[in-house]
Amino acid sequence: MRLALFDKGRLGVVDGDDLVDVTDQLTGAGTAGPAGAVQRYIETTARGEAVRFDLAGRPRTPLAEAALQAPLPLPGKIIGAPVNYLDHKAEMEYTTSVADLGVFLKANSSVIGPGEDILLPYSDKRTDQEGELGVVIGRTAAHVSADDALGHVFGYTCVLDITVRSGEDRSTRKSFDTFTPLGPWVVTADEIPDPDTLDLRCDVGGTTRQRTNTADLIFGVRELIAYTSSVMTLHPGDVIATGTPAGVGPLAHGDRVVLDIEKVGRLEVGVDGSRATPYERRPGRRDR
Ligand code: MN
Repeated sequence: MRLALFDKGRLGVVDGDDLVDVTDQLTGAGTAGPAGAVQRYIETTARGEAVRFDLAGRPRTPLAEAALQAPLPLPGKIIGAPVNYLDHKAEMEYTTSVADLGVFLKANSSVIGPGEDILLPYSDKRTDQEGELGVVIGRTAAHVSADDALGHVFGYTCVLDITVRSGEDRSTRKSFDTFTPLGPWVVTADEIPDPDTLDLRCDVGGTTRQRTNTADLIFGVRELIAYTSSVMTLHPGDVIATGTPAGVGPLAHGDRVVLDIEKVGRLEVGVDGSRATPYERRPGRRDR
């Protein structure tokens, strides 16, 4: 099942080329607040309450005309995996990987949805795209083994981990508003029995920059959940961005970024650099 958020908070199920409005079939979905109705559904299933949507006779909108939002506009946590593909490690000339670096957090306020724009903060610093498979947690996970990890997954989505190439900590460089495009929906885990076999492609401005298969992850999805849950308890709706392959590169005003992941979906966003300012003009004193 593909679950989407649309029309300012409506809950939709993708059915072929249509989006079917099922808001009225989930208790509290219409008043789910900033975390949204998909989050509400995830929490409902985490409590073991079965919800079966009946799509017959429900209002339908062609997907092409639907005003999709980020399916999870305000995740509890967004966790990132640095240097989790060997080819990306090589292109950045890193000497360490996720196994040495652990994971990092991105601000949950950085999420945007399909069709929105990434805002470039600086006119003279690179802001790069990183196309990544996103894992959505479905059950509270603390110290789970790799063997048990997939039982804690609700589903998968496309994530762009947008990053400024400057000297600050990762959590700063990756947490600007608009820096986590997410969507276009969440695909439930039953449709993807093995997340470590998915083709991923990321195009910028019509040119393919990144092409990989999640089989090449250093920490696969199971290991990443096992490791992360040994550090922090994962809650339903938390998102793990699994890391990016080689081919990261600078975004420019007017670019379209398209991330396509097999069995998951295709996320497309724009790039707006019209409000970018020189790096030296950022707030804060630098004389001590
Ligand atoms: Mn990344």
